[in-house]
Amino acid sequence: MATKIYDAIIVGAGPAGIFAALELISKSRARVLIIDKGEPLEKRHCRTQREYGRCLRCNPCAITCGWGGAGAFSDGKLTLTSAFGGYLNEYIDQDSIEKMIEEVDQIYLSYGASEIVYGTDQEAVKDMERSAAAAGLNLVPAKIRHLGTENCYRVIEKMYNALSDKVDILMNTIVAELVTEDGMVKGVKLKSGEIYSADYVICAPGRVGAEWMYSESKRLGLKGINNPVDIGVRVEVPAVIMEKLTSQAYESKLIYFTKHFDDRIRTFCMNPYGVVVTEGNEGLVTVNGHSYAETKTVNTNFALLVSKSFTEPFTEPIRYGRYIASLANMLGDGVIVQRLGDLLMGRRSTTERIRRGLVQPTLTEATPGDLSLVLPYRYLLAIIEMLEALDKLAPGVNSRHTLLYGIEVKFYSYRLCLSSKLETDINNLFAVGDGAGVTRGLIQASSTGLLAAREIANRLQNN
Ligand SMILES: Cc1cc2nc3c(=O)[nH]c(=O)nc-3n(C[C@H](O)[C@H](O)[C@H](O)COP(=O)(O)OP(=O)(O)OC[C@H]3O[C@@H](n4cnc5c(N)ncnc54)[C@H](O)[C@@H]3O)c2cc1C
Repeated sequence: MATKIYDAIIVGAGPAGIFAALELISKSRARVLIIDKGEPLEKRHCRTQREYGRCLRCNPCAITCGWGGAGAFSDGKLTLTSAFGGYLNEYIDQDSIEKMIEEVDQIYLSYGASEIVYGTDQEAVKDMERSAAAAGLNLVPAKIRHLGTENCYRVIEKMYNALSDKVDILMNTIVAELVTEDGMVKGVKLKSGEIYSADYVICAPGRVGAEWMYSESKRLGLKGINNPVDIGVRVEVPAVIMEKLTSQAYESKLIYFTKHFDDRIRTFCMNPYGVVVTEGNEGLVTVNGHSYAETKTVNTNFALLVSKSFTEPFTEPIRYGRYIASLANMLGDGVIVQRLGDLLMGRRSTTERIRRGLVQPTLTEATPGDLSLVLPYRYLLAIIEMLEALDKLAPGVNSRHTLLYGIEVKFYSYRLCLSSKLETDINNLFAVGDGAGVTRGLIQASSTGLLAAREIANRLQNN
């Protein structure tokens, strides 16, 4: 039986869900409920890493779940482009995207985002493009506003304050099912069995909820397509090696096609003077990275991700990613770290070898091990070839001391079929952000929340 009736329910309080709520309260008088399975912002502490020195695979994970979603402890790089970070350009035209990204950026600014934007010096960017091309790499230029993890937290806190007395918020609450009737959404059913009714539902469950989104879409008969699966490692090097690139562009998006398999591999989420961290994904431990605006380390980290598309008969890319990550977890009891030199010599890294290395790991809980026992041949080869190419742009990257952490995997591989307003084939059911497979970063995730909510506000006004 329904306990409360809302105009709109938002599943997930990450950037996509928060921006949807901000838009709904500013454009309508909708009664809105936000539900998230994680903790309120002030209670989001990764106690296990602090107390036990390693990830205990809590579910829900304090790093990826709760108010702010994976965005709360993210690096807060706002990539002000549609060239990467999602598939928004497949739903709306280029002009509208540019305007939406500008609008979302302004909202972040109004909640206290930093004024500094990287990648605006056209001459320097051209110079980098030339050097990248000479190394066989394609540089995708982008302007980036960097918040830093501590500022990201503050921005999201302010957004909470703006919303808390205007919408209902249920934290520590798991949505188990979407309730539908005759092709129309009717609300959500919680794990506790309670049902909350609503005329509209926006699903914004993030990567951590991608598997749930997939199983719900199967149960409801919703169609979807497979995005490429992104699997790879996080690379850690002395920050000075990357300084020429990171001081100009902050994050350089570099793409390479391998000689052997013609696979696409790219740099992702570059964190100058940052830290490598673990991330809980429904019982799995994977690796990620971020950097603080105020506290610096001596290392820079970035991911190298190999994109692979699967064809018939395999249709479960998320399962494939989980399988590879679980191998690393099985062998390393979590994340594995290996020196590039050890990988190339065909031997595992040990605590002693890591200690003797020139790069000291910022993620101390990672187990020295052998990534060649985890990653398929073509992935390893792609990573090795990419590091050789990168070395021409940033000499020293391909050093035997370079650290590789595995596994980094992105669970946004299943993309629901959606309308240009991000509505599913079930009326009034919208799906946004990383969990719907539509985005893979803060700016586009926030934009999709805004887009869906704007449509709902329009419909509410016209009813
Ligand atoms: C360490 C780290 C660093 C990052 N750095 C950057 C960066 O610098 N720049 C960038 O653009 N992106 C970055 N990202 C990625 C960025 O955080 C995500 O792209 C973004 O948060 C996606 O937003 P979202 O709202 O779609 O999902 P999320 O932020 O993942 O939020 C989803 C929310 O839904 C909740 N949820 C899931 N399932 C359910 C359910 N069944 N019931 C109730 N609640 C549910 C979860 O608890 C979660 O809070 C980073 C991510 C991490 C982890």
